[in-house]
Amino acid sequence: MKIIAVGMNYASHNKEMHHSLELSEPTIFMKSDSSLLKDGKPFFIPDFSSEIHYEAEIVVKIDKLGKNIAERFAYRYYNEITVGIDFTARDIQNRLRQQGLPWEISKAFDGSAVTGAFIPLCEAGDINKIPFCLHINGAKVQKGNTAEMLFPVDKIIAYASRFFTLKIGDLIYTGTPAGVGSVKINDHLEGYVGETKLLDFYVK
Ligand code: ZN
Repeated sequence: MKIIAVGMNYASHNKEMHHSLELSEPTIFMKSDSSLLKDGKPFFIPDFSSEIHYEAEIVVKIDKLGKNIAERFAYRYYNEITVGIDFTARDIQNRLRQQGLPWEISKAFDGSAVTGAFIPLCEAGDINKIPFCLHINGAKVQKGNTAEMLFPVDKIIAYASRFFTLKIGDLIYTGTPAGVGSVKINDHLEGYVGETKLLDFYVK
């Protein structure tokens, strides 16, 4: 499986990061199957970064093979979602960005793609109106709603599938709202879709 992620998909987050790009297309990057961290396993802060940021995101699981998917048919290609964390080595990403180099090592390292428990979309509601939030040590640090996305899920699927064949089990990380920040050892992260807790793990 592969992990497709969208950067800069919420205006509130772009503002906090001082990105002023007017994007006409989604900004896509990939993570690896070895990036995946699930089942509430702890996230170990890697030794190559001193600034690991959490980014809470809605994650969509692809359940049908597709290529060049039309936006109006994209809803047929997924049926489950969860909330996850796109961990980012911000210090490395900033350095690579300044140098005009690819971000991969800051985004796709082992354990950088955390997923919660998936729920069927019929429980989560309209894909374009899903509220979600992240608590760290009991305090709400991020909240968002898929309605705020610059590029909605079906548009992301249409766009990404022009370049990459989507396969069963592929995951799409759909971008993060404002409120990102660093994690430290012993932080407790809990992610919610609506009132339902789907994500629960510790940083070690
Ligand atoms: Zn992200």
